[in-house]
Amino acid sequence: TLPQRADPGVSRGELLDAVQNRPDVVAAQRQAAAAGTNTELAQASRVSAMGALATAIAHELNQPLTNIANYTQGLCNLVERQDDFKGRDEVIRVLHLCSNQAVRAGQLIHRLRDFVKGGKPHSAPNAVTEIIRDATALAMINGYKRAVHIDYDIPADLPPALVDHLQGQQVVFNLLRNAIEATDTEKGGQHEILISARQLDEARIEISIEDEGPGIDPAIANSLFDSFVTTKGGGMGVGLAICKQIIEANGGQISAGRSERLGGAAFRFTLPIYSNGQERQD
Ligand code: ADP
Repeated sequence: TLPQRADPGVSRGELLDAVQNRPDVVAAQRQAAAAGTNTELAQASRVSAMGALATAIAHELNQPLTNIANYTQGLCNLVERQDDFKGRDEVIRVLHLCSNQAVRAGQLIHRLRDFVKGGKPHSAPNAVTEIIRDATALAMINGYKRAVHIDYDIPADLPPALVDHLQGQQVVFNLLRNAIEATDTEKGGQHEILISARQLDEARIEISIEDEGPGIDPAIANSLFDSFVTTKGGGMGVGLAICKQIIEANGGQISAGRSERLGGAAFRFTLPIYSNGQERQD
């Protein structure tokens, strides 16, 4: 059976009100005001507002995402019963993909909400190649195939990293999307992106994403990883801030610079290498 209509939820005004008047946002503003500078005030309230916003968004999106997954499943069951439906298998395959993505989006949002509320990552041994493969596949589904060619330079004997798989995937996806957007100029032709990984030392793996775009705008180079810093018209400016939070929570570091090989931007981050016996930190 197909699900009922979505619950109308709260209005936009209520949502904004909930964010602006949350006790932690107000407390952060007071604390910064006591510290005496407007810059600190702005910074503290931005960080708290981001946490509150993530919680509000998670709450709002949960219902429609569940409905998408249920409707898709319902449709799938319907199509499965139509024996004379041409292309039935393909339709079912794509419906399953839709349903999986809705479930995945829900998981991502909840992880993000838990994360900004101070939750710990679900660290486990993960193959870096798999994290990169999943993130790339996702970027391609999202219509980024266009004129981009991705090169990989990842040694087969790379040890596993100790990282939350979904969070690692989110970081690679964000960096890849930025790289694609940076190279997506009107010049035409195919744009190169290089994703590489290497063992940096006994304890760390380094993953790099390089592009041949214009590089990082010097005007924002020092605040690149701060929330709400963007040079894009419709940009939110939270992608890199989230990447930094995730990487540091997973015991790594992230930095940006210039790509020697491709001439554009290069983003690099480290992850700890998994060594036998390390416990899951659930
Ligand atoms: P958004 O993509 O919404 O702007 P981000 O936090 O992901 O937010 O990025 C912040 C800014 O960093 C971008 O607006 C852009 O100016 C710069 N940036 C990020 N990635 C790249 C890149 N690969 N090349 C050049 N600039 C970049």
